[in-house]
Amino acid sequence: MCIFCEIIAGNIPGKKIYEDEEFLAILDISQTTKGHTLVMPKKHYENFLEMPADEFGRLMETVQKTAAKVVENMHANGCNILINTNEIAGQTVMHAHVHIIPRYDEYDTVGFMFKPNELDLDAIQKQINQD
Ligand code: AMP
Ligand code: ZN
Repeated sequence: MCIFCEIIAGNIPGKKIYEDEEFLAILDISQTTKGHTLVMPKKHYENFLEMPADEFGRLMETVQKTAAKVVENMHANGCNILINTNEIAGQTVMHAHVHIIPRYDEYDTVGFMFKPNELDLDAIQKQINQD
């Protein structure tokens, strides 16, 4: 069993923020910012790409509801919603989950930089849109 399945099964403690039949939200142990929360399906999927579209849709509804609660009650000024998919993208727990990272000010210990590249947009568009 993966570590999130262990939490869902109640074998490992988790600080519960929200729960229903399909989904669980818990505080992330790292608390990158105060209130950093993870929302996950109770069913084990390696990552969100493996989830049926309707279940992923309901997961994102739960993320929206939970993010609104976290931002409001933590008096945050906004949040980042993040899904790391596969090791190259920083996924360390191979059970689908969505990060809710409340944002307070410019001193938040969160970093993600979009560095511009000189690439051929037409070629990339063609490659992505191929059948
Ligand atoms: P990711 O890097 O996207 O796979 O995120 C996995 C997250 O799970 C990390 O931010 C960890 O801090 C968090 N994490 C790992 N183990 C636990 C745990 N036992 N309880 C709560 N969060 C955890
Ligand atoms: Zn799992």
